Amino acid sequence: MGKVTGFMEFQRVGETYEAPVARKKHYKEFILSLSNDEAKTQGARCMDCGIPFCNNGCPVNNIIPDWNDLVYRGAYHEALETLHSTNNFPEFTGRICPAPCESACTLGINSDPVGIKSIEHFIVDKGWENGWIVPQPPLVKTGKKVAVVGSGPAGLAAAQQLARIGHDVTVFEKSDRVGGLLRYGIPDFKMEKSHIDRRVEQMEAEGVTFRTGVLVGKDFPANVNNWAKKTIAPDELKAEFDAVVIAGGAEQPRDLPVPGRELKGVHFAMDFLPQQNKVNAGDKVKDQILAGGKHVVVIGGGDTGSDCVGTSNRQGAVSIQQFELMPQPPELENKPLVWPYWPTKLRTSSSHEEGCDRDWAVATKRLEGKNGKVEKLIAARVEWKDGKMQEVPDSEFEMKADLVFLAMGFVSPVAQVLEAFGVDKDARGNAKATTDGDACYKTSVDKVFAAGDMRRGQSLVVWAIREGRQCARAVDEFLMGASVLPR
Ligand SMILES: Cc1cc2nc3c(=O)[nH]c(=O)nc-3n(C[C@H](O)[C@H](O)[C@H](O)COP(=O)(O)OP(=O)(O)OC[C@H]3O[C@@H](n4cnc5c(N)ncnc54)[C@H](O)[C@@H]3O)c2cc1C
Ligand code: SF4
Repeated sequence: MGKVTGFMEFQRVGETYEAPVARKKHYKEFILSLSNDEAKTQGARCMDCGIPFCNNGCPVNNIIPDWNDLVYRGAYHEALETLHSTNNFPEFTGRICPAPCESACTLGINSDPVGIKSIEHFIVDKGWENGWIVPQPPLVKTGKKVAVVGSGPAGLAAAQQLARIGHDVTVFEKSDRVGGLLRYGIPDFKMEKSHIDRRVEQMEAEGVTFRTGVLVGKDFPANVNNWAKKTIAPDELKAEFDAVVIAGGAEQPRDLPVPGRELKGVHFAMDFLPQQNKVNAGDKVKDQILAGGKHVVVIGGGDTGSDCVGTSNRQGAVSIQQFELMPQPPELENKPLVWPYWPTKLRTSSSHEEGCDRDWAVATKRLEGKNGKVEKLIAARVEWKDGKMQEVPDSEFEMKADLVFLAMGFVSPVAQVLEAFGVDKDARGNAKATTDGDACYKTSVDKVFAAGDMRRGQSLVVWAIREGRQCARAVDEFLMGASVLPR
């Protein structure tokens, strides 16, 4: 519980960020973890509220009050063990989780919430620094073989849990490197990729085999990244493995069907972001999409759009404008109304702080250009009445645009992958499977399970880790009749 009077004595102190001018010059992480003293007083702010809503607010149910207390007492190794008991990859979430736990913190009702995410970051970094994070190979092998399709956080969490309990796990990934959107989506300045490499090493030592550059299935849409050099038919996997987990994410991007969409210079965010991550990894990218010297317009106000802003700034864009269709949310939430839930409020990311103009309730009407290349975007203001969007009369305006990034979210998993496996889809086009009951995470096809964005639709890394862990238990129960893996 930290210190009894800690929440009255200590103010919240956040992590330190390198200044925007300096950090825009590179692609490295720029957040400095808390010092030992800072972590101690931040942990001390946890006030033993009785019912730790934070633990429910966290999708992996991190046992937050316990590790807050352990950090306050300097018991870092125990804090790490507690953290790892619910989360395979706290160095990912400690960096890029939006921290719904903090919205649920009881102290947050009338004060600043405990800086839970920064404490998580501190604990796991301490673990790596001190060499406490080592492979945990199984003591006994079961002789059962499991295939995991997709190496994002859901696939990785499922694979690690299944390998540690003794199954032979092979992860199939169509990209050239492991990590899913952690690798080729989330920019390096939010999370450096060495964190993934370290976990891959650990998992290999625990017995996981990674096969990259392999697409499971056959047909794949041209507008989704696919660097596979080889394909494997789902039937082959089903024949060779005792169970298959499909964790292929929700990669089908939402398009913008307006006149001029076909012009050069109009790209999906996921055409742009992975290229820079590849270059950072030392690859050569032919005809890289570059924002340097250009007027950039980002359509879509979420995380992906914000990552386009940060990357465009680092590439030297002349101007960056981000548009969002929905109205501007309030600066502050109405706490008594929304606590302990995740509130709708204005969120300014570190990429926004580095420079960009944002505008809300704006709909793009068309894109225009010369010689097949985009030059301007024509938009109009909209308002929402009775849940319906209406254009504000005489509100049309235009804006210079040399590059337009479409970052309006993802509609579903790639349908062809689900169809190749023959699994039923839900109403939103995701793999149909429940998360509770005897058949949890099971698809309509025998011995095929689904987890992460492929099952729940576009979501968060922490939800993917939760689903990967829970799916691993379901697979283990299916293979062995019972499981000691956590629910
Ligand atoms: C640009 C961007 C930024 C984001 N930022 C954040 C953030 O800051 N914080 C946060 O919590 N969440 C963020 N998200 C969301 C988060 O990344 C996802 O919710 C999460 O990665 C989903 O994990 P997953 O394992 O289900 O799928 P993914 O990470 O999408 O991984 C799926 C993997 O499966 C592979 N695959 C798919 N089909 C096949 C096939 N047929 N054969 C072989 N391999 C296949 C894909 O290549 C991919 O590597 C962001 C998303 C994007 C796009
Ligand atoms: S994983 Fe996310 S929600 Fe859970 S404790 Fe960490 S920051 Fe909070």
